[in-house]
Amino acid sequence: MSKTATNLIHSIPVDPLTGAISVPIYQTSTFVQEAPGIHKGFDYTRTNNPTRKALEDVVAQLENGKVGVAFSSGLAAIDAVIKLLEIGDEILAVDDIYGGAFRLFTQIYAKFGIKVNYVDTTQTENVFNAITPTTKLIWIETPTNPTLKISDIEAIAKIAKANNCLLCVDNTFASPALQQPLGLGADIVIHSATKYLGGHSDLIAGLVITKDQTIGEKIKFIQNASGAVLSPFDSWLVIRGIETLPVRIQKHCENAQAVAAYLTTHPAVDKVYYPGLKSHVNHDIAVKQSKGFGGIVSFTLKNDTEEAATAFVRATQYFKLAESLGGVKSLLCHPAQMTHKSIPADKRKAAGIADSLIRLSVGLEDVDDLINDLENALQSYTRLINKKQTTIS
Ligand SMILES: *Cc1c(COP(=O)(O)O)cnc(C)c1O
Repeated sequence: MSKTATNLIHSIPVDPLTGAISVPIYQTSTFVQEAPGIHKGFDYTRTNNPTRKALEDVVAQLENGKVGVAFSSGLAAIDAVIKLLEIGDEILAVDDIYGGAFRLFTQIYAKFGIKVNYVDTTQTENVFNAITPTTKLIWIETPTNPTLKISDIEAIAKIAKANNCLLCVDNTFASPALQQPLGLGADIVIHSATKYLGGHSDLIAGLVITKDQTIGEKIKFIQNASGAVLSPFDSWLVIRGIETLPVRIQKHCENAQAVAAYLTTHPAVDKVYYPGLKSHVNHDIAVKQSKGFGGIVSFTLKNDTEEAATAFVRATQYFKLAESLGGVKSLLCHPAQMTHKSIPADKRKAAGIADSLIRLSVGLEDVDDLINDLENALQSYTRLINKKQTTIS
């Protein structure tokens, strides 16, 4: 364990030019050349930049991959992977995929002749059965958002390999501190570095990491050709976030486990979704393929209505109502009215996103304060609902 953190911290290079312990921010668009084409390895920042390169090398190591490529958002990273495909190719994707990826697939790539099939990838045989000769890419997220379903990366990687297609894992929710898909057989990992890698809710960034040098070079080509590169300053911020990733994630996991355990005991709470609970449907796979269960906890209320959820999310003090996750400050969101609003109500419910489902991004505060905050909000929501019921009867 200690070796991982030491390796990570020391994989961030000391500046060879000046000895600066922090990676310098090369805030420049271009680099002076001695003669045409004769330069120090950098010619134009869209193509390559020393600060971004430091980040890309660090994340390649962090995910045990060959090539890391940094983009201006998680979606730009996803977009770059899809650009590996050609007209007529098919993607087989997890059914409760990140909404932005769904929008990108259906509203942008469908018109370029790329088809997507969605299946519940937690049942590995669904993947096996849905593969066709034109499937070129399997796309999974594990854990998923917001019900934290887990798919078996190793088993799906075997199916991908046997069928000559690539497996890409969106590793945003777990982070490489908990789960390393390339070691389990995946070909590509993507991150919204906006979340745990950045870790402080102060940037938007995306990463692609490949196991294979050739695929990595193709992604690097797409990065330069399409141009959605991460800026030098934001690259530096992500490096700075990554320095504390192991300790942050450890604390996120501890706090989330305690919050999940507390919620399971509360009479106003119905279901609790957290892979670290023995009651979670995919707990065994989570134990097998990850070192911990992450910082996201979702739950539903006994009073399964949007009104109840709204009353609850307005009553917390430390959990701030906002989209996104993975930062130092605890956040909560109501997927039915926020992140998953664009999904029709019946489809949303079929995916297990109940009207009252609330997603918590458990931050790094003292866990007693977080639990008190939830307790107070659950009490005030219960009072409000009871009052309503007495006035009705
Ligand atoms: C946020 C998120 C994305 C998109 O990342 P952006 O940085 O917002 O573009 C992709 N996948 C998952 C799982 C996410 O949570």
